[in-house]
Amino acid sequence: MLVGATTFTVTRWSLLDQLDRELVEVAQTATSSVAADYADMGGLSAGLLAASNGLLAVVGADGTVEQLPGQDRDLPPGNEEIKVARLQVGSSARTIEGNGVTYRAVAVPMRLNDGTPVAVMFARPMSGLESTLGSLWVVLLIAGGLGVLTATLAALWTARAVLAPVRRLSQAVKSVTQTDELNPIRIYGRDDLGELTQLFNTMLRSLAQSREQQRQLIADAGHELRTPLTSMRTNVELLLADDSTGMLPPGARTEVLGDVAAQLGEFSALVGDLVALTRDDHLQRPHELVDLADVTVAAIERAKRRGPGIEFDAKLEPTPIMGDPSTLERAITNLLDNAVKFSPQDGTIRIHLSEGSLVIIDEGPGIDEADLPNVFDRFYRSDKARNTPGTGLGLAIVAHTAEVHGGSVKADNEPGAGARFTLRLPVLEPLDDPFLI
Ligand code: ATP
Ligand code: MG
Repeated sequence: MLVGATTFTVTRWSLLDQLDRELVEVAQTATSSVAADYADMGGLSAGLLAASNGLLAVVGADGTVEQLPGQDRDLPPGNEEIKVARLQVGSSARTIEGNGVTYRAVAVPMRLNDGTPVAVMFARPMSGLESTLGSLWVVLLIAGGLGVLTATLAALWTARAVLAPVRRLSQAVKSVTQTDELNPIRIYGRDDLGELTQLFNTMLRSLAQSREQQRQLIADAGHELRTPLTSMRTNVELLLADDSTGMLPPGARTEVLGDVAAQLGEFSALVGDLVALTRDDHLQRPHELVDLADVTVAAIERAKRRGPGIEFDAKLEPTPIMGDPSTLERAITNLLDNAVKFSPQDGTIRIHLSEGSLVIIDEGPGIDEADLPNVFDRFYRSDKARNTPGTGLGLAIVAHTAEVHGGSVKADNEPGAGARFTLRLPVLEPLDDPFLI
């Protein structure tokens, strides 16, 4: 609007200036005819009117005025014209209103033949200029309006475009809090908002990861707690049955009670471990120097309590490694528990430990070739195992423990026997042994 008003003012000013110059030129040209008229007739003749196409008058220095005869309107002289007549320098220009018509009038100095100073005043209607300015005003008004409209629309569009990613981001945050789903947000552009979205996605990812870890920990904890609990219940049921029937041979009762006590100890140690594990930021315990043979012996003791009729044939070499004894013991127990679970009643489980490889072979049905690649997956159980107790987490925990200790675990079948599991862990070289340096 300001631009429109300025354009209008400047155009008006320059058009007026042009008109004035034009009028002054006509007035100056008229001076010679005026001089001739005065010389010939002592006054103005009507002939000038047609030639000048406007109003003409001669103004004296005393304010007297002589109009051109035949004009439809008088030209009343003002101070400006009288000044021009008196001083005989420059020119004047002003706008005259009257009878509903606006005139632009100029005055230029001249001297009559007898030397009398006068001013020739010449005026033309401003209708042409006014109509030009009127149209200009309309054009500027329309252009200005359109400009304002376009600018408003552009501003609205830009605001929408700029705010769209912000809206998407806040929508995503809202959906995370409302639905509890940690889905990543689509990233648009590489600007600050894109970066913010990326950071937000990273946060969502690590939240999802820690939620998954928590879920896994709870599932693993359930698994680890259930196993000793089950055998404890079996033993207690056995004692109860013996109370009413007296079926146990002498001394067996004490043995079963000893087992229950050991299992209770195992159970509370496990609860302690799990609580410590939940508090641990990295969900991982510090490693220390341990002999894998000792750990295996402890695991065999545990497994024996779950498979009373089964023979354990162990050949264990001392194997110094860096690790967490309780996690390792639980992993080996899981392997032995499986061996016990799938062994025939009076089967033998062979356990060999040498050069960092712990091999456990049972006399059960073995594992189908088709199942071999999947047995370490969480919750995977072969069709054959459906009627045995379990959740399918045991081997997943073993695989995770092996990985955390920089080792590996493998499943296959022993020709002429059952399943064979091989747990490999990096053995400390004598020089690595911190106690030997
Ligand atoms: P749990 O969670 O109680 O350990 P599970 O023993 O069935 O249940 P995993 O220990 O993970 O689960 O074993 C997964 C599957 O691998 C078993 O269901 C079984 O099909 C197979 N498997 C594991 N060990 C043996 C084995 N010694 N002999 C035959 N099959 C085995
Ligand atoms: Mg198992």
